[in-house]
Amino acid sequence: MSASGDDAGRPTQLAIQQPGRPLRLADKYDAPLLAARHGPLQFHVMAKPVGSVCNLGCTYCFYLSKETLPGGPGAGRMSEEVLESFVRQYIEGVSAPEVTFTWQGGEPMLRGLEFYRKAVALQKRYARPGQAVQNDLQTNGTLLDEEWCAFLKENRFLVGLSIDGPRELHDRYRVGKGGRPTFDAVMKGVRLLQRFGVRFNTLTCVHRLNARKPIDVYRFLRHDVGSTTLQFTPVVEHRGFDRGSLRAELPAEPPLVGAPEARPGSPGSVVTEWSVDPDDWGYFLCRTFDRWAARDVGRIFVNQFETLVAQHLGLPSQMCVYSETCGKAVAMEHSGALFACDHFVYPDHHIGDVRSGRLRNAVLSRAQVMFGFAKSERLPRACRGCSFVADCWGECPKNRLLRTADGEPGLSYLCSGLKTFYAHALPRIETIVADLRGSARREEGRM
Ligand code: SF4
Ligand code: SF4
Repeated sequence: MSASGDDAGRPTQLAIQQPGRPLRLADKYDAPLLAARHGPLQFHVMAKPVGSVCNLGCTYCFYLSKETLPGGPGAGRMSEEVLESFVRQYIEGVSAPEVTFTWQGGEPMLRGLEFYRKAVALQKRYARPGQAVQNDLQTNGTLLDEEWCAFLKENRFLVGLSIDGPRELHDRYRVGKGGRPTFDAVMKGVRLLQRFGVRFNTLTCVHRLNARKPIDVYRFLRHDVGSTTLQFTPVVEHRGFDRGSLRAELPAEPPLVGAPEARPGSPGSVVTEWSVDPDDWGYFLCRTFDRWAARDVGRIFVNQFETLVAQHLGLPSQMCVYSETCGKAVAMEHSGALFACDHFVYPDHHIGDVRSGRLRNAVLSRAQVMFGFAKSERLPRACRGCSFVADCWGECPKNRLLRTADGEPGLSYLCSGLKTFYAHALPRIETIVADLRGSARREEGRM
């Protein structure tokens, strides 16, 4: 990088010089790279120790097919060399005071306990003085035993447990390889986590069926599972998700919002048959929100609602999908290959490799920064003019499967449900925010 100066000697323009490329002026896509030289850098890596390999065969899993994806990451286990390289580069790359390792899959527990003992030992070796290291393990819960739970407790792992609701809803899509039910095995894992006092939250995929039973799902997670942190994730997959990225597989003329093809189950639908219906997603959010707002504010944390409260307090969204830009959460496959996001593990979104020692560079690369900015730059006019845009930001780019009513592409498949939810929840959110501000003022007055 070099700088040209004005009369007072202050730099007015920055130029980027990369090896083997012509000098060029910096632009906004270089800003994160330049800012990282002066301030703390925070990013997140989701690591896949066994790639997409899993002991289950959930119908809706978008990751199992990565093994056979043309040009994709294939199958394999993360070597100890890749592990060490990753731990060192990640800890060195994140200059913020906390770094979070997220182990995901497939089923990450299949890599075996010794792998994680080694990971924790490496983290202790490479962590800077005062730097906090946190581990999150996202699991289907069926392989938990006493030895694992003792390890998770001792090393303060936060477990994200996948469970979709009561037995009949959970077993509809979360099944073993031969289609066998998994509910009992997951609940056995829940009881073990509780017995050992392991911190856990629940991740519930909201699909075509459980979306219509919001209170059954909420009540079950809250009371039968004892979860105090509930993450709801809408299941939305475009039809060609197992063949290639949205860029490659979306029809040239995506369906118009409200068309039959913009719903699951219709002939020619743009999504898989297990994807949640957009209006059902709105229904699910509204009903669970009412339940949460009536009894559980401040006691039970629901990702979709907490983030809305945070946004209306003037804080950043806690979820990438409701942020103006994305791109700060990359995925790392078993081989060390890096991809733009867990939902974009496709050859056309490969951004680098930890084996070449370039984790930080990949996160700050022009391709990755442009990927992040594209979230807001490609918002259709309907979103730009929407009264909920500052809450929604057009939701996740992977779900932008529709055309707006005036024919512009790039509208979220979930738009109709999101609008229903925002219109329903925002008045109550404003009351919650006012209460929080009032409590904070009273607290300050007492100090
Ligand atoms: S593509 Fe979607 S899931 Fe990935 S970082 Fe962006 S908003 Fe988040
Ligand atoms: S609610 Fe719909 S129109 Fe509004 S910002 Fe979100 S996706 Fe766009």
